[in-house]
Amino acid sequence: MPFAATILTLYPEMFPGPLGQSLAGRALGEGLWSCDTVQIRDFATDRHRSVDDTPAGGGAGMVLRADVVAAALDSVAGGRPVLAMTPRGRPLTQARVRALAAGPGVTLLCGRFEGFDERLFEARAIEPVSIGDYVLSGGETAAIVLLDACIRLLPGVMGAASSGDDESFESGLLEYPHYTRPVEWEGRTIPEVLRSGDHAKIAAWRKQRAEDDTRLRRPDLWERYRNARD
Ligand code: SAH
Repeated sequence: MPFAATILTLYPEMFPGPLGQSLAGRALGEGLWSCDTVQIRDFATDRHRSVDDTPAGGGAGMVLRADVVAAALDSVAGGRPVLAMTPRGRPLTQARVRALAAGPGVTLLCGRFEGFDERLFEARAIEPVSIGDYVLSGGETAAIVLLDACIRLLPGVMGAASSGDDESFESGLLEYPHYTRPVEWEGRTIPEVLRSGDHAKIAAWRKQRAEDDTRLRRPDLWERYRNARD
């Protein structure tokens, strides 16, 4: 069974969007994953087809109604994890992406405006997920990020090339830096060791750079890596 993605959104025309190109696009064409959308507005019940209303307690913006979103969600076949895109969610990690990619697929809820009525999360099994500490205008681009990360891990999508555990985060570290020809560019040369053909030395250099760069750029990752190692 291919990895099945169902996206609940007010903007179904945003899908597959960039996932229709390159690796993900080819995989979609080959049937390695599927992409369905559900228009949340189709589940509105009033004459104006409204999906949102003003926030209880006052304040700016509009909130997506629990009844309308739940009806949209209940129309989707179960058996796959349901994830809601929200900056209030648990940050997405490569480990979570790997687990999702190994499963049957995902149902993704894309928010707009101020987000979802909180009662949705109490009434349905929904995992709130954030793609980072910044605020987007809608959950669609977050859903595309999550799907992209999953799809590249599906069997047959990427050559053997970069599926290994060298990749950033797989080892708890950032990946080492890459270089390619020309050997000299604007007076800068590729580090000697990478041209030495000495595989043990190259591996040691890469490990060192992965550690140094992680320590400098991502003290949070470095701390966790060190604690796990010691
Ligand atoms: N008022 C909300 C932000 C709403 S942004 C708050 O402050 O928490 C509108 C929608 O964009 C959200 O419902 C969510 O679906 C999406 N979104 C915004 N930032 C996101 C992020 N970092 N990760 C995942 N989804 C995000």
